[in-house]
Amino acid sequence: MHYQEDLIFTPGPTATDPRVQEAMAGCRLNPDFDSRFTEIYSETAAKLGRIMGTQNPVLILAGEGMLGLEASIASLVEPGEKVLCLANGLFGKGLADFVQSYGGKPILVEKDWRKPITVDDLDEILGQNPGINLATMVHCETPTGILNPLEEICPYLSEKGIISIVDAVASIGGDRVNADQNKMDVILGGSQKALSAPPGLSFLSLSPRAWEKIEKRKEPFRGFYLNLKVWQDTWLKKGTFPYTQPAPDIAALGVACEIALENWPWVLENHEQLAAAVRGSLLTNGLELYPLSNFASTVSAFFIPGGISDNSFRQHLWEQYRVQIGGSLGPLDGLIWRLGHMGYNSDSGRIFRTLTALDRAFSEFKFNTNLAVSFAQQLKEQNK
Ligand SMILES: *Cc1c(COP(=O)(O)O)cnc(C)c1O
Repeated sequence: MHYQEDLIFTPGPTATDPRVQEAMAGCRLNPDFDSRFTEIYSETAAKLGRIMGTQNPVLILAGEGMLGLEASIASLVEPGEKVLCLANGLFGKGLADFVQSYGGKPILVEKDWRKPITVDDLDEILGQNPGINLATMVHCETPTGILNPLEEICPYLSEKGIISIVDAVASIGGDRVNADQNKMDVILGGSQKALSAPPGLSFLSLSPRAWEKIEKRKEPFRGFYLNLKVWQDTWLKKGTFPYTQPAPDIAALGVACEIALENWPWVLENHEQLAAAVRGSLLTNGLELYPLSNFASTVSAFFIPGGISDNSFRQHLWEQYRVQIGGSLGPLDGLIWRLGHMGYNSDSGRIFRTLTALDRAFSEFKFNTNLAVSFAQQLKEQNK
């Protein structure tokens, strides 16, 4: 059996819509000289602002998600400063490492990776560590598919005067973020996850309070590429760019945002319904989900069935059926798999084809499933 198109179901980079690919290939303007680029940049930033639910200005940075993360931490964390770091997964821990490498003192809030971090987990530690002004956290922990309840955590932190830095790379465009309503101070995303643009861009917005913290640093951050102050002094104040921008990448991201906004906010409900049907199908077929609750709508993680070898199965799935699913990272490598049903892949037909391929590959590994049929039944039940 051969599909016409590869089915890239990893939780980012994801498959891209042909319209996004065309926008990228068709963008030949010179970003330094052609004023149309300024329009593309500001329109794309405005669309990202709508998708994230923020009125604050949005910056698009020329590097993938990690750049936005590192730039916000480098710009906001002062040497010696205590920073609350919420860590129930690999990315949450990674943020604490960034804090440390920029001279901050991470105060870790750790939790079983199968459970969300909640407001209850914060009270005691904040009581023991007075004077904290900054916290880092991850909305969707992509390696596990858990979605932390930031709609409770960020307002709680905000009330205590703590600035939140939110890695929403894997939720923006697929799960509700509502940055302003939920009092997220710094929120950042990446192009290659639920917006389904090619990898290579990061975007972020900062609240006035976060900008103020950068301005009032005792010791200015000396770097250039990671320094958000540089963006404030150029683009935000003068409408110029600090360096040449990757015009084709930004044009592609603009079209990806337009596609999401065409059906906004239905896109979010659709992600939610398809994700619920995927989980229902996995459970019906005896597979075990990794998170115990708070499931993301963008990625589903489940335990690899006993006796199946991670690498040989995924290689078979790719070579035989042109389907890619994600393994996991760090301590979960070889233990769980992940399906990225986000952005362009939040489509029942594409998910059905992926699950059909999984059924066939599973049967070739002597494990019988009916994932595709169960998925279709779950969707039918939802629409009753
Ligand atoms: C993808 C992702 C990033 C960016 O990391 P890369 O794997 O290098 O693309 C950051 N945070 C989260 C939660 C992500 O899912």
